[in-house]
Amino acid sequence: MRPKLTAVFATFAVLVAGCGSAGDPHNLAPAVTAERPLPANAGKVTETGEPGGGSEDCGDPTVSLRPDGKDIPSNSTMDKIKESGKLRVGVDQNTYLFGFRNPTSGTLEGFDIEIAREIAEAIFGDDSKVQFVAITSGQRIDVLKEDKVDIVVRTMTINCERREDIEFSSVYFVAGQRLLVRKDSGHQGMDDLDDKAVCAAQGSTSLKNIAEVNPEAIPFAVDNWSDCLVLMQQGQVDAISTDDTILAGMAQQDPTTVVVGDQFTSEPYGVGIPQENKDMVRFINAVLEDVRKGSWQSSYDRWIEPVLGSSNPPRPKYK
Ligand code: GLU
Repeated sequence: MRPKLTAVFATFAVLVAGCGSAGDPHNLAPAVTAERPLPANAGKVTETGEPGGGSEDCGDPTVSLRPDGKDIPSNSTMDKIKESGKLRVGVDQNTYLFGFRNPTSGTLEGFDIEIAREIAEAIFGDDSKVQFVAITSGQRIDVLKEDKVDIVVRTMTINCERREDIEFSSVYFVAGQRLLVRKDSGHQGMDDLDDKAVCAAQGSTSLKNIAEVNPEAIPFAVDNWSDCLVLMQQGQVDAISTDDTILAGMAQQDPTTVVVGDQFTSEPYGVGIPQENKDMVRFINAVLEDVRKGSWQSSYDRWIEPVLGSSNPPRPKYK
């Protein structure tokens, strides 16, 4: 023990000496502004591309294939999924109310998660046969094209641009884009945000719509919606703009924030399905017919009604 103690005192003596004597102050904190850390892939965007719906006109993109029952013919897409033993679903794990990890139970919960479980129930007679794959907004189309998931249920707006790459079910929810700000900011809408950073997820319709609605605002892109909330809490962005559904969840998580302004877009949500799996589109539309008559309302009332008020399931359109 003794040699070690000596070493400690010696080190201490050197440190004290290093601090300098009274009358010889050292400024140990150089006056340089520290760069605040940003989440991965976060930053200001100069080119957001075409506004939300895309430039291609495909008619009404929400018209989907007519359901023809919930039977599972052999060799169908549903049959192959059944054989594999699980339905692989691309979901969000960061969006409170729609797809988020319950910190107490560790399980994924929310409106989208319940839609995914209904589809698994229809295939397996067991809603636990789901393999959830957590994805960002920007990954939704690629994971379908690259066969990494069977479907995507993730606050996904149906539009003509996306229809060039994937299929969609009928509409199961209609949201609309609004704005979330700090209560003490005084901002009331997008018009107040000239030269201000407005956060949205990369690959979302929201990011493109910000530039469309106020070209003087500075779109700020991140991977996950939860990154936007943290950045606003840190004062690194001035506002967040996306679907009212997602903003309502954030306002619940942080009561110092508030949703302001009117809806300035319509965001009809559909289940994303690989382009070639038309049988799966019809099958999921049959499942959604049942969901609209049954679990839709209880799921809505559990997750969404307390924050956005009462609503009914949207009517499907078929061709
Ligand atoms: N509904 C919008 C979209 O599909 C925004 C929501 C999101 O990105 O998760 O792009």
